[in-house]
Amino acid sequence: MGSKGREIVGLDVDELLVLLRKAFADEWLAYYQYWLGAKVCKGPMKEAVITELELHATEELNHSLLLSNRIIQLGGTPITNPQDWFKLTNCGYDAPDDPFVKTLLIQNIKGEQCAIGTYKKLLDLTRDKDPVTYNIILTIIEQEVEHEEDLQALLEDFELMARAFK
Ligand code: FE
Ligand code: FE
Ligand code: MG
Repeated sequence: MGSKGREIVGLDVDELLVLLRKAFADEWLAYYQYWLGAKVCKGPMKEAVITELELHATEELNHSLLLSNRIIQLGGTPITNPQDWFKLTNCGYDAPDDPFVKTLLIQNIKGEQCAIGTYKKLLDLTRDKDPVTYNIILTIIEQEVEHEEDLQALLEDFELMARAFK
């Protein structure tokens, strides 16, 4: 922990750490949901969907890295036991039990929308108070917004294709 780095945070650092650890839990669950979704995915347009799910998995994993680095900088500990992912998550986990492309897209869009809401709250909390965390969260939310749009565009293409075959 950097003591001056922690001192300049104009927020209760312990409360901030609670929120960063919750977001960290979300990222691991999002990573696994995407990673497994890409493995089991079936149906029309699956090549395009798998490519996107795989890319998003790596990006979610990188978000967990960014959050863990900041948690440690602030003197906290990233979650040490995966059982706590479920206790701390904001956005939960939707098991890809139905491998149909459309179901996976809908599940992951829901996850992204939750993530965007979570990070918007963190942006509002840290703006003008903790520029270092703010900058990290901004980087992450930019990608979550991109993820939502990527998946909604794929879902739209899927629906158009389904209509063409009616
Ligand atoms: Fe993420
Ligand atoms: Fe995402
Ligand atoms: Mg993408």
